[in-house]
Amino acid sequence: MKEKVYNWQLRRKMAYKYPETRPKKQVAWIFDTNKCIACQTCTLACKNAWTSGKGQEYMWWNNVETKPWGFYPLGWDSRLLEKLGAQRWRGDRYAGKTIFESSSYGEEITGFVPEEDDYLYPNIGEDEVAQPVKKGGYIKIPHQPWMFYLQRICNHCTYPACLASCPRKSIYKRPEDGIVLIDQKRCRGYQECVRGCPYKKSFFRTETKKSEKCISCFPAIEDGFQTECVVNCIGKIRLFGFKSDWRKPREDNPIDYLVHIKKVALPLYPQFGLEPNVYYIPPINVPDAFNRQLFGPGSKNAVKIYRKAYEDKKLIAALVLMGCTNKIINTIGVSGDINSGYAAGYNEAGSEIIRVPLKEPIVIRKKYDRDRNVARISVT
Ligand code: SF4
Ligand code: SF4
Repeated sequence: MKEKVYNWQLRRKMAYKYPETRPKKQVAWIFDTNKCIACQTCTLACKNAWTSGKGQEYMWWNNVETKPWGFYPLGWDSRLLEKLGAQRWRGDRYAGKTIFESSSYGEEITGFVPEEDDYLYPNIGEDEVAQPVKKGGYIKIPHQPWMFYLQRICNHCTYPACLASCPRKSIYKRPEDGIVLIDQKRCRGYQECVRGCPYKKSFFRTETKKSEKCISCFPAIEDGFQTECVVNCIGKIRLFGFKSDWRKPREDNPIDYLVHIKKVALPLYPQFGLEPNVYYIPPINVPDAFNRQLFGPGSKNAVKIYRKAYEDKKLIAALVLMGCTNKIINTIGVSGDINSGYAAGYNEAGSEIIRVPLKEPIVIRKKYDRDRNVARISVT
C-alpha cells in the first residue's frame, strides 16, 4: 500500500493503494438502530428489486442482523476483528492498524473468503439477547439483557477495500456521487473483492462467474429518489442523501447535520479504515464498550445527544423526516416550536417536497366505532 491518504474517521493519514480522490458529492445513509423492528421489509424490497435471479439466491445486499449473535455471513466481523488484533483509540484518533496496514506477508489487505456454509444462515442469532435470561426473570428498567438490530448494506466506502483488492481494476467509484460499482464486462470472478471487503458485501455469482454488489439503486437516485431499502422501511429508521465534504458540512443538509455537526450518527467499524458512508445512530440500551467497538469512540456522546434530541429543533427535524418521502431531501427547514412546529424537506431545486409535524399528534380513537360497527382492541 504505497499511498498515504487522509481518513477523517480515524483523524489521521493511513496507507491505501490509490491516491486520495473524493467524489463531487457522496451518497450516504443514516440508520437509526433504535427504531428498527427487524421486519426485514428492507431486505425483501432489495431482493425483489435486484437479486431475484439464478445464482443470486444467497445474495442479501441488504440484511438486518441481531447483535451480538447475528452475522451474515457467519462471523463476518468477529473473524476479522480477531485477525486485526488490538484496536486502540487515543482520544478520537485511531492508534491501531487498519486492514490496509495490518496484512501479513503475501496478502495486500487483511481479509478472508467465507466458506459456502457461512452463507447458509442469514437469520442466525435473530432476537437472541446477549446473556441468558434467568428463570423467573422479568423486565426491569433499565432492561439488563440486551440486543439490537444492525441494518447492513454496502457502505459505498471512500476507500473501498473491494476496489483496492481487484487485480482487474473492474471496480470503480463514480466521481459524481461516490457510488461503488463492479464493471460486469471486466470482472473475471477472482473473488478478491469478496476476500477484501470487511463487511462482506461483495458476492460471487456462480451462474455468471462474476462478482456483484449493491448498486445504490442508481437508476432511482439519478431520478431524485431514495433507495429501495429506505423507501420501503416500515420503521422509518432510514434516510438517504448526499454528504458534503467533511471539512465543509452544511447545517441545512440533514446528513451533514446528523454526521458532522451533531455527531449523533457514526460509521460501522471505522477502525477497518474504509471511511464507510452508512452512518448509525447507536442503540441506547447497549453497553458503552460494545457500542465503542462497533461505532468508535464517539458512541457514548452520540447516545447522550440522541437522548436529549428534544433540546434541538433541527435535530428533531432531521429525525422526523426519516422515511417520510421517497424523494431525496437535499436541505431541511424548521418552523414553529417543538410542540406545534413543522419540519420541511426541499429538493435540489429548493422546492418543498415534504412537511411533517415536529411532534407527532396522538389520536385516541373510540373503543367502539359506531360508524363502522367495530370494537378496537388497540385504541391509540
Ligand atoms: S462495503 Fe465492501 S463492497 Fe461496499 S464499497 Fe466498501 S469494500 Fe466495497
Ligand atoms: S424495514 Fe426498516 S424497520 Fe424493518 S427491518 Fe428494515 S430497517 Fe428495520
